[in-house]
Amino acid sequence: MKNEYAIGVDIGGTNIRAAMVSFSKEGGYTVKMKVKKSTGSEPLAVLHKILDSIFSRHPEVNGIGLATAGIIDRQKGIVIRSPNIPKFSGVNLKSEMANRYKTFVVVENDANASAIGEKCAGAGKDFKNFVILTLGTGIGGGIVINNRLLPVAAEIGHMSINANGQPCACGNVGCLESYASATALIGNAVASIEKDSSSMLKNLYSGNFYKINSEDIYNAALEGDSLSRTVLREAGKNLGIGIANIINILSPDAIILAGGLSSAWNIYIDAALKEAEKRALKELFSNAKIIPSILGDEAGIIGAARFVFDKMSEHHSIKVS
Ligand SMILES: [Zn+2]
Repeated sequence: MKNEYAIGVDIGGTNIRAAMVSFSKEGGYTVKMKVKKSTGSEPLAVLHKILDSIFSRHPEVNGIGLATAGIIDRQKGIVIRSPNIPKFSGVNLKSEMANRYKTFVVVENDANASAIGEKCAGAGKDFKNFVILTLGTGIGGGIVINNRLLPVAAEIGHMSINANGQPCACGNVGCLESYASATALIGNAVASIEKDSSSMLKNLYSGNFYKINSEDIYNAALEGDSLSRTVLREAGKNLGIGIANIINILSPDAIILAGGLSSAWNIYIDAALKEAEKRALKELFSNAKIIPSILGDEAGIIGAARFVFDKMSEHHSIKVS
């Protein structure tokens, strides 16, 4: 029998990635026609270009799953607010794509799509209840309970961890992502270099500190740079406060850590685990396995494609019953 494919698209602030994905009954998946393009200043045009090229060769696909950062009205397929891609705020991506490609379209938040991806084919496979945290420029979240994605915002990055804390782009103060994201890490490192000039970060980019990224900080930390180690540990500790809150509220079987920062396991994540253990209820903490993502940056694509098939079968069963 011919494989059935859906297109999964992960729309990020920097890149748009897409691929055709099919799933086997045994839980495996196949990816083909992988595309990655810079999001640029006209994301809708880039999205059309990518999908045009896939449809011109494979008009038989079953549908399109779009995963994007921000608050989504998944019923209508509207991006209500997208902080990373302001041009998508208010856009009805579902009708836009459905009209152009005459196919079934679903829209989901990117971290939620990653949760679906990890559930069907990655680190969440064996867990009935888990939470995924995507640790990057911002912090996203997705919650799976009883093997199903909770259709909620799960904006875990905007959980307050400091009553009088730093202002966040969302309008609140003291949000987790203002303390534990890559953006926070870089901001703290740059502020510290300006005060303490002994750090090896000072020699990077001919002193143009504003080019420093989270990987530079991690690499310097591994080489023993104390400023880098301190900012990573501090960010990790703050992440641990967020993790303890999640464990106490949801008592998940697992917390899956995804996104670029999750690879900084042996300083940043270690500090997070220590802090979470200190703060969470003991019994709940010991039940929660804290593990890295398996699908990495493919999780959003795979989850978005999977969401197409899940929603199609839901529609079908509603019609039948
Ligand atoms: Zn916030």
